[in-house]
Amino acid sequence: MAAQTEYKFFEAVEKSFDKAAKFTNWDPGILEQIKQCNSVYRMFFPVKIGDKIEVIKAYRVQHSQHKSPSKGGIRFALSVNLDEVMALAALMTYKCAIVNVPFGGAKGGISIDPKKYTPYELEKITRRYTSELIKKNFIGPGTDVPAPDYGTGEKEMAWILDTYTSMRPGEIDALACVTGKPVSQGGVRGRREATGLGVFYGIREVCNMHDMMKKVGLTPGVEGKTVIIQGLGNVGYHTAKFFREGGAKVIALAEFEGAITNPDGLNEEEVFQHRKKTGSILNFPGATNITKSLDALELPCDILIPAALENVINGENAPNIKAKIIGEAANGPLTPDADEVFIKKGVLVVPDMYLNAGGVTVSYFEWLKNLSHVRYGRMEKRFTENMNTHILSQIEELSGKTVSKKEKEFILHGADEADLVYSGLEETMITATKEIIDCWKSDDKIPDMRTAAYIVAINKVATSYNELGIFP
Ligand code: GLU
Repeated sequence: MAAQTEYKFFEAVEKSFDKAAKFTNWDPGILEQIKQCNSVYRMFFPVKIGDKIEVIKAYRVQHSQHKSPSKGGIRFALSVNLDEVMALAALMTYKCAIVNVPFGGAKGGISIDPKKYTPYELEKITRRYTSELIKKNFIGPGTDVPAPDYGTGEKEMAWILDTYTSMRPGEIDALACVTGKPVSQGGVRGRREATGLGVFYGIREVCNMHDMMKKVGLTPGVEGKTVIIQGLGNVGYHTAKFFREGGAKVIALAEFEGAITNPDGLNEEEVFQHRKKTGSILNFPGATNITKSLDALELPCDILIPAALENVINGENAPNIKAKIIGEAANGPLTPDADEVFIKKGVLVVPDMYLNAGGVTVSYFEWLKNLSHVRYGRMEKRFTENMNTHILSQIEELSGKTVSKKEKEFILHGADEADLVYSGLEETMITATKEIIDCWKSDDKIPDMRTAAYIVAINKVATSYNELGIFP
């Protein structure tokens, strides 16, 4: 069994970074600069909750500014701490580099249990946090752009936007100060499901690689594969949905209160509704309960997807895991000890900083939309449809044949916002997968896909620092 080492999260990220840096030739000074968190802001602010004043602890960390703005979500959880925010900010730097999104990495967090507050209280906390960020220039379309993360969503992003715009009246690009907004507030269609869809595209691409599947003893393709997902939040829910729609079988779902399993497959929407109604994932009709939630991760399956929090698979439970592929939809769900176990066992670990990059990729599309002040597809949708109608009628006339109604609809359709966002995301994930796998194959000493992903990221960030030059 692997040695039990307790890593702090940021240390674990540094460890993976160092493992990969050995395969590069960059100046040690540049590597050291990349590793550091450039700006760390820890704040305390008072908020009146009922008739008491509560002192709230919060953070925003900008890990890198080799590209501006820096980018990353804001997490609301009692467990939020500086080490976690620093690690998550660092992962954002590498994530953005891998998917060629021109941002530095950042992350924020408020150390609260959001379930303990009313929506009005949460709004007060979010708005006060935003004004603290504004005061220190830690938010803005060209400096630092937050987004949703664990415990936050569209609603919080709308409060951030509203606070920002009221404190910066007349700023023409203010809408781009935050992403993951509701569509009615400048959000982009497809952002909500983006991370889960990216996870699906990423794993599907790996599953389509015959040599990769041979390595783990599986047949190519996603269809028919058995999947276990931990977490039924935004990421877990959408990951489950796209896998089910792609022909895979989600045989177990795990949450805090326990897990459920059904070898015939679970429908995420039905489970979600059941949990909403009863307050628990357990006792779902047709499924078997697993009272100790983590036990579900050890069931036999093809693909295991941790989509909740960090450090859930470590040196202790990794040897019991039977999955052939692990897709890190969450940030940092595996410790470095777990990585070592899986390298030995020949399990393919598809790493977080690439696999869950769908969220920030579509955030980039949203940011571009906000800066351009126009909805995707608005200028060309009708033009494409008119042109396609003309081409098709010419084909029909010249061939004397008619195309079926269904085919006609498909051919004539001009791309709308959701089409363009989905296709931009698909292209991004496919390109990133190929780049990482090519790097992995380029040297048989590279032990795993995570190290290959770090090498790709380090090379991109280091090139950027190198070309910028170091300020004398
Ligand atoms: N919080 C998400 C992540 O960890 C999204 C970040 C963003 O869209 O900026 O990647």
